[in-house]
Amino acid sequence: MKIAILPGDGIGPEIIEQAVKVLSALGESFEMETAPVGGAGYEAHGHPLPEGTLKLAKEADAVLFGAVGDWKYDTLERALRPEQAILGLRKNLNLFANLRPAILYPELAGASTLKPEVVSGLDILIIRELTGDIYFGQPRGVRTAPDGAFKGEREGFDTMRYAESEIRRIAHVAFQAARKRGKRLTSVDKANVLETFQFWKDIVTDVHKEYQDVALDHMYVDNAAMQLVRAPKKFDVIVTGNMFGDILSDAAAMLTGSIGMLPSASLDAKNKGLYEPSHGSAPDIAGKGVANPLATILSAAMMLRYSLNRAEQADRIENAVKKVLVQGLRTPDIYEEGTRKVGTVEMGDAVVQALQ
Ligand code: NAD
Repeated sequence: MKIAILPGDGIGPEIIEQAVKVLSALGESFEMETAPVGGAGYEAHGHPLPEGTLKLAKEADAVLFGAVGDWKYDTLERALRPEQAILGLRKNLNLFANLRPAILYPELAGASTLKPEVVSGLDILIIRELTGDIYFGQPRGVRTAPDGAFKGEREGFDTMRYAESEIRRIAHVAFQAARKRGKRLTSVDKANVLETFQFWKDIVTDVHKEYQDVALDHMYVDNAAMQLVRAPKKFDVIVTGNMFGDILSDAAAMLTGSIGMLPSASLDAKNKGLYEPSHGSAPDIAGKGVANPLATILSAAMMLRYSLNRAEQADRIENAVKKVLVQGLRTPDIYEEGTRKVGTVEMGDAVVQALQ
């Protein structure tokens, strides 16, 4: 099993180092190769996604990614900015399924902006289609309106579209993920207003015939947004399109109140994937040794579960993370009075210890 390690910028290298330490402590013989990406790629090779890095990512069975970006690159032309690396990887590796678990460990219930009884023990998975929808649909642009009430005026326009095969493949990912969890899937759409999402609903319903052991329900996106804040624990797995998923997954992430805790996976049709924390490169705390490495360590656990077929090892890591939280160890972002404040390295070491 070959893992491409792409640390990136800011806190990326610090948090990736902890995840690599945890992976190395599992007693498996993974081949891990590191390459620069983002600002680091630009510094080393003049491009945020250097050819060698892309080649490594393509060859590997999975990619473990830190984070990219730094304010000092904001003046570069768009194609050379660090963030282009992640878009390039998604496109080149055909990563169409974005999996974002939102988990709130009972020990961190106080970190949420919602009441502890509403969110404590939250464990939901949001699956967002990542390469289609209005974000990529053509035609798009600004033009003189050819018709309608505002004919002759300048207008901006985009195109929402989903091909049948795009919906089918994300629906399969979602049903399979639900099967591995609580066996309940909510498909979120706007079928009451949008043709694209009536079609989405019909196709998801059809794919459901192959997964009769999973309970499927459909929900309009506005209601889903409300329910996520009102009673988020009612959900198990949510599947939705690119735009709705973008918004709902961020809302769900914030339910847990701690961006440093949230892993993510982006998968292709064969479950090869790129795994990264949901947060960015946090330049404000880079190099200070205070970044929370748990989102990256939990991303490594997702990698073991979804791409490397090592569910038991994934469980081991997740249980080790729970254990250090029960022990009261906290990086500053999740610190509360009565717990013990630790740095990035100490947190990584504690997870390694808890694995034993
Ligand atoms: P950010 O997620 O990097 O930081 C937001 C806030 O959360 C900051 O206060 C930061 O200190 C804190 N934070 C983030 N991760 C943390 C962790 N592990 N431990 C403790 N605190 C943490 O978002 P931003 O500040 O908007 O963006 C910074 C840079 O990251 C930008 O260049 C942006 O483009 C980039 N970015 C990259 C990715 C990615 O690599 N996939 C995603 C989002 C943002």
